[in-house]
Amino acid sequence: MSDLRDLYQQTILDHTRKPRNKHEMPDATSTADGHNRLCGDKIRLFLKVNAGIIEDISFTGNGCAISTASASMMTEALKGKSVAEAQPLFELFHTMLTSPMDQEPDLEALNKLAVFSGVREFPVRVKCATLPWHTLQAAIKNQDAPVTTE
Ligand code: ZN
Repeated sequence: MSDLRDLYQQTILDHTRKPRNKHEMPDATSTADGHNRLCGDKIRLFLKVNAGIIEDISFTGNGCAISTASASMMTEALKGKSVAEAQPLFELFHTMLTSPMDQEPDLEALNKLAVFSGVREFPVRVKCATLPWHTLQAAIKNQDAPVTTE
């Protein structure tokens, strides 16, 4: 179990040090800003959606280790997925972070994102981990392109 925890921490640390997809996107189809006042995390999310598919996704901003790693891993997980697929992932991610320690939901669908399950032990950090996802929700609502709901 402690080996697993080490792995989780290393993964988060890796994404904090070398965030993936951290850049502006001039041809984004929608953007949204997120701010976690509790911690001071600020994020701007860029989405390029075509026919309901997230063709590209990136972010900029300044945040703590958890919010940066969460944004980085979220962009990695969602690139190439449909907007419709993103929604249940967000819900599962949110459930994972808000359920009691002894009631873990089935995390298989989250793949690598399951590394954030340990964040539950630090309630003040939950908002850091979910900020990129809430910002994603706003960006999806902002977009003009029709969203498929298959
Ligand atoms: Zn934070």
